[in-house]
Amino acid sequence: MEKYELPKLPYGYGELAPHISEEQLRLHHEKHHQAYVNGANAVLEKLDKARKENADLDMKATLKELSFQASGHVLHSLFWENMAPAGKGGGGIPSGALEKAIDAEFGNFDRFKKEFTQAALSAEGSGWAALVYCAKTKHLLLMQIEKHSVNAYPGSKVLLVLDVWEHAYYLDYKNLRAKFIEAFWNIANWKEAEKRFDEIKR
Ligand code: MN
Repeated sequence: MEKYELPKLPYGYGELAPHISEEQLRLHHEKHHQAYVNGANAVLEKLDKARKENADLDMKATLKELSFQASGHVLHSLFWENMAPAGKGGGGIPSGALEKAIDAEFGNFDRFKKEFTQAALSAEGSGWAALVYCAKTKHLLLMQIEKHSVNAYPGSKVLLVLDVWEHAYYLDYKNLRAKFIEAFWNIANWKEAEKRFDEIKR
């Protein structure tokens, strides 16, 4: 069976600077994301071993661990693709069907940006802000995800996600999360969000 793997970044470590420095991005990707990959694989191995030996497991603790590690891996993988170097795919505003949907849902882009920013700013500790699409109701929704999976609702497609764990910005911005969120808009990759939206609409 396959294992979780750390994906390659779609840009160089230095290319998101000055919004995210090379040192910050390298640490986040090579150390933090790698730790979730390793953690998720360790849970898979633990499950496999227990099944082979028909041994008992603390199911509650094991599945909590699996959710945390695997969701961390999935969200980080989506997050890297949600960014691009400023001026080379990063920044600007959405276009096409996603632009229309954001206007229809939020009123206008500025209102979306304000709500998303507030979700990111107020996320507790280990949090994320995400723009998702609920195919069932055809609504664009915001999620404020804690600990990689708490407060997330199932079945929605993540279009744009922002990591606001301190490990995502502390080297560059110290405790000033608002500055990091502001900088994110310069490297947000709307083409990727549009692609994900078009895929699910099809
Ligand atoms: Mn992170």
